[in-house]
Amino acid sequence: MRIAKDGTVHVSANAYVPDHRIDAFVIDNVPFIKRALFKLEALTSKKIEALTYTTGETMSILGMPVQLEVVETNEKAHIKFDGARLLSMFVKPGYTYEDKYKLMDIFWRQLGEKVFHHWAQVVYKRFQQAGIDVPMPTVKQQRMKSRWGSCTPTKELIKMNMRLLEGPQAYIEYVMIHEFAHFKYWDHSKNFHHLVAQFLPDWKERKKSLNLYFAHRP
Ligand SMILES: [Zn+2]
Repeated sequence: MRIAKDGTVHVSANAYVPDHRIDAFVIDNVPFIKRALFKLEALTSKKIEALTYTTGETMSILGMPVQLEVVETNEKAHIKFDGARLLSMFVKPGYTYEDKYKLMDIFWRQLGEKVFHHWAQVVYKRFQQAGIDVPMPTVKQQRMKSRWGSCTPTKELIKMNMRLLEGPQAYIEYVMIHEFAHFKYWDHSKNFHHLVAQFLPDWKERKKSLNLYFAHRP
């Protein structure tokens, strides 16, 4: 079986194989086909455009599509998010792209403080319950170019990449577990991955999916 670049599925079989056997084979492989098509779409879909902070744009917050609305105000600039579908930026007349970026950054930091701290507590509890002794770390957030997180055991510190806040929380959970596992093993050895798999059997798929998700985001 082969999936072409245009998304069509090709099955080759000997001429004597009855049609219903081929149908059954395709049906059996639906999960595989779905995964392959999903990957194909992610790889070939256009790169998502960077935000210009204009009304009508769509942004992604924790994996949810959220509409952006920019409203001019003479009050102090601020952001209102309804928690689901609409984010309103109240900006002063003459606000530049950089001003809007900085305003959004305050929003992201406030969100990150809540979300990363929440996941640190959840993962910490899971390690404790499994009898694995790890510290409750200080959690910091930062925009990073080349890594999703980092762990400094000597400082009991975990740093999370703020870009993760754009994607589904399943990715944050994966990165948090990965960084917590570094309290036990500093390297990416077999033991390390074994420990990660103990909490997240599907960590490999999540890692792939995470990199794919951000590969076509600005
Ligand atoms: Zn690592």
